[in-house]
Amino acid sequence: MPHEPKKRHSRQRQGKRRSSIKQATSAGILCPNCGTMNLPHTICKKCGYYKGKQIIKVSSKTKEKTETENKSKK
Ligand SMILES: [Zn+2]
Repeated sequence: MPHEPKKRHSRQRQGKRRSSIKQATSAGILCPNCGTMNLPHTICKKCGYYKGKQIIKVSSKTKEKTETENKSKK
């Protein structure tokens, strides 16, 4: 005979079990610089900051345009 559960668990008990499962799966940290959700222990994708320092220069299209415009004027 295979091992079977003797009695069916109540809805309350099922909910208690699943509530802890959902907590474990949710992973994310708010960036202190720009406030976007990121994976823990990783550099922020939006601003390139990690542990209060800028590690990667994130170049947005608007910033690139302004830089190139200023250079051409000079
Ligand atoms: Zn950020």
